[in-house]
Amino acid sequence: MAVREGSLEAPTRHPIDWKSPGTTTKARPSSELERIFDICHGCRRCVALCGAFPTLFDLVDEGKSGEVDGVEKKDYWKVVDQCYLCDLCYMTKCPYVPPHEWNVDFPHTMLRAKAIKFKNGGVDFGSKFLSSTDVHGKFAGIPIVVQAANAVNQTRPMRALMESTLHVDRNAWLPSLATRKFRSAAPKAADLPVKNGERTPGKVAIYATCYINYNEPGIGLTC
Ligand code: SF4
Ligand code: SF4
Repeated sequence: MAVREGSLEAPTRHPIDWKSPGTTTKARPSSELERIFDICHGCRRCVALCGAFPTLFDLVDEGKSGEVDGVEKKDYWKVVDQCYLCDLCYMTKCPYVPPHEWNVDFPHTMLRAKAIKFKNGGVDFGSKFLSSTDVHGKFAGIPIVVQAANAVNQTRPMRALMESTLHVDRNAWLPSLATRKFRSAAPKAADLPVKNGERTPGKVAIYATCYINYNEPGIGLTC
């Protein structure tokens, strides 16, 4: 039977069995990472999409054998850390996504590896705090407090503290918190009825994201 190429139609997404304890055990991801990395090394089509692929290909090219087996397993995490789960490789580039029998799902493999890293205590305080956007975003929109927080965040002592505790370079650009959150400022959408059907004029849900809500509401308001 001929193998069907993926990407000729909407890919089949196999859900992650995230409730199964086996999903976050240490042993399984390494072999799946190796399998996926090996296919990607032979393909290299996604090299320009993000930092994950160049990191992988550099590790392979600079390794002992020039193949994936020459890459130290501990260096796999360098690739995993570079993936920000945008799904671009899966949705737009990869010819080996299901229904192709190779079943390449790079983002899901990275997501699972990240879950394993988190479960095994591999994520430090700084990363946890920085990703808790609802925690540090809660000052946004509070009069006086938000101005004070923005001013303090730009001071040299605070930047030095952030660098030592959160690993945020003291010279890196830091977004300010918004004086009014997007969710407070966005006008209510017109009340369109939701209808099923091929040419439905029904609603779509657009996710503002925490960054637009807490830091850049203007982008959301002009969309
Ligand atoms: S899902 Fe990850 S690996 Fe794929 S393009 Fe996005 S960042 Fe890169
Ligand atoms: S994700 Fe698919 S298209 Fe991208 S490098 Fe890997 S095998 Fe190639």
